[in-house]
Amino acid sequence: MSYKEPAPIKNQENPFESMMSRFDEAARILGLDKNSYNVLKSPAKAVIVSLPVIMDDGTVQVFEGYRVVHSQAMGPSKGGIRYSMDVHLDEVKALAAWMTWKCAVVGIPYGGGKGGIKCDPRKMSKGELERLTRAYAGAMRDVFGPEKDIPAPDMNTGPQEMAWLMDEYSKIQGMYTPAVTTGKPLVLGGSSGRVEATGRGVMVAARAAMGKLGINPSEATCAVQGFGNVGSISAKLIQLQGLKIVAISDVSGGYYDPKGIDIEGAIAYRNSNGGTLEGFNAERITNEEILELDVDVLVPAAMEDQITKHNAANIKAKLIVEGANGPTSASADLILNEKNIMVVPDILANAGGVTVSYFEWVQNRLGYYWTEERVHRRADRTMKQAFEEVYAASQKYGTSLRIAAYIVAIDKVAKALAFRGVF
Ligand code: NAD
Repeated sequence: MSYKEPAPIKNQENPFESMMSRFDEAARILGLDKNSYNVLKSPAKAVIVSLPVIMDDGTVQVFEGYRVVHSQAMGPSKGGIRYSMDVHLDEVKALAAWMTWKCAVVGIPYGGGKGGIKCDPRKMSKGELERLTRAYAGAMRDVFGPEKDIPAPDMNTGPQEMAWLMDEYSKIQGMYTPAVTTGKPLVLGGSSGRVEATGRGVMVAARAAMGKLGINPSEATCAVQGFGNVGSISAKLIQLQGLKIVAISDVSGGYYDPKGIDIEGAIAYRNSNGGTLEGFNAERITNEEILELDVDVLVPAAMEDQITKHNAANIKAKLIVEGANGPTSASADLILNEKNIMVVPDILANAGGVTVSYFEWVQNRLGYYWTEERVHRRADRTMKQAFEEVYAASQKYGTSLRIAAYIVAIDKVAKALAFRGVF
């Protein structure tokens, strides 16, 4: 994700409370013992730092930076860093826990972490952002490390910030240490296939779920909300599977064409139109209407809290594949379950991104770089296996795929914890 103004959140329900309520339900079904429950509810570490930065006008501004390590039971913690005025400790704690479950679902050997700096990157120059990022890397030098805690991009950070972070950390260590971050530029140890990884994983999850539901891709229709990295690449790859994409949307609104939208054309339009679909040649609909279209597959890939108790009853799709993090609230889950709509949950559906981040870290440590084809093949295999594991758990426990994903994740982390022991 690059520098874009965060869209207003509708805030009907707190997505993080939604997430924790699912954790509770899965823990109950799994019969998680109270000791493990208490350990997994609490982040292992939360660090707050003050970051003095010399601004372009010569004044010194002090920013607050956070890093939360939720769990390192399965391996070094992994998770992004966001730059936003909305960053606060409670949010970072919840996002860190989310990363623990996401890594465990796909079976990559990581725990979960998350970080952030309270700042408004749109009001800062490139030089100020560089000094801020380097100050953060220096202040967190004892937290970060290729075997300890590995940051990645998140909201309003991207390859440039990861390059500064890696460079500063390498200088402090006195040696080139590319594996300390992922999401780096390709010329600096980034992985082939990382840009497409999340959308590609969404497509693989959608295909696997369609197989279970008996939906024939070449006869199916699909709508995709959000047309950024995840939405546009999901739409492109889902279309290549034979589905007809009848609607897409971004912050400018929704675009509907029952005959099908040419996604390559829409991407080219967006790229030549300042990054927005505004003015795209199709019937205009709203971002609320796109969710309620009569399609087979719906991919919410914009932001959190889009399907809630207020609109869940109007959803007509047979399958929802969550490209975004937290697009469905816990109360909406109940309604979707009653309507027998299959939901491939975020911690599974969009885990292709963190999977390829793991491959980036592996390649950095090997010092040997894979072809794009190899990255895709291994990521597809990881996503398919994770889907089957979660599907089997949903059959075994008689739950939704979402609760099954949490069950699979919590079970793995709790077992690792039990083997390692508690002090
Ligand atoms: P992005 O910034 O590239 O794109 C976001 C898209 O959503 C844009 O098209 C934007 O116009 C649109 N949008 C913003 N507000 C909207 C609104 N109110 N209604 C409709 N559309 C709106 O971001 P991204 O990287 O594609 O991330 C999208 C979601 O996927 C986020 O929830 C993110 O956390 C999640 N995600 C991303 C990755 C990744 O690898 N990029 C991995 C896992 C999860």
